[in-house]
Amino acid sequence: MEIKHPFYNAKLMLTEEIPLYVFLVKGQDYSVWIDTGIQGMFDALVETMESAEVSDDDLKFILNTHSHHDHIGCNASIKDKTNCFIAAPAHYAHWHSDFEAHYNEFARPFPDLFPDTPELRSEALDPLDAEHKIDVYIDEGSSFDLGGGVKLTAYSFPGHMLAELGWFEESTQTLILADAITGLDWGLIHGHLTVSGYRDTVEKIDHLLDELNVKQVFMAHYDPMTPNEMRELTQKARDYINGIERTVITVAAENETVTLQLLWEEFLKRHNKLTEFRSLSTIDAHIKDLVERKLLKQIDSKNYILI
Ligand SMILES: [Zn+2]
Repeated sequence: MEIKHPFYNAKLMLTEEIPLYVFLVKGQDYSVWIDTGIQGMFDALVETMESAEVSDDDLKFILNTHSHHDHIGCNASIKDKTNCFIAAPAHYAHWHSDFEAHYNEFARPFPDLFPDTPELRSEALDPLDAEHKIDVYIDEGSSFDLGGGVKLTAYSFPGHMLAELGWFEESTQTLILADAITGLDWGLIHGHLTVSGYRDTVEKIDHLLDELNVKQVFMAHYDPMTPNEMRELTQKARDYINGIERTVITVAAENETVTLQLLWEEFLKRHNKLTEFRSLSTIDAHIKDLVERKLLKQIDSKNYILI
């Protein structure tokens, strides 16, 4: 599917299997970036603006979907160049203005299981250009009228993070999502931090495809999709979440007691996934979800049993 006016994009392959799309939306009155990719994409963002004939003065906002390093990586340098405002959900505001906190909360929420190493630090922080506060807090319902009929309205899609936005563009009936549906087939676990949030988001996307009569869907890590392709992806996401849950329950059933570490290591082995930090937070989210649904019970600071 082609990306046409009022959308322009910069694209980079993060790895052989993971693309990263960043979208520029051009209105008659002003233009916005939806996310800014990683800092290495700065030249590509500038070239995209030039080919779209969007001047520095025309660029009024960066609208961050969420605060991960591959979505806010050029925030400070694009702000410096254009004097635009940075708009993002408030929940992770400190991830924008305090990279040490960003690093610890993102990559080391379980410091015992993930030591502070130069490699981990560089993986988490190298994609980011410089600390810069969020200028404007946005949430579901926030709306930007770019002029000439081009209008963006925000919808909330938690799951991958505790706060994430996607956008609906009215004139083209386009849904623009970032990581609301995570990478499902990658060698690493892309990650989700609330299981119930992710399940609700999957249903909400399906519902919005109908309610808004969506004609096309853009995402950060997938090629543009038709609504039917998107419905196939949401079904795959349901299966994916259920598959992780099934493994956590199976491992818990096979052992008298289980810890986060055991569930995580067994999960990686059984799903043949890379050992890295995102999957640890994901398994922790599933444990919390199962405890809340009274399928698992915490018996001391580290151990859980199946009920
Ligand atoms: Zn993300």
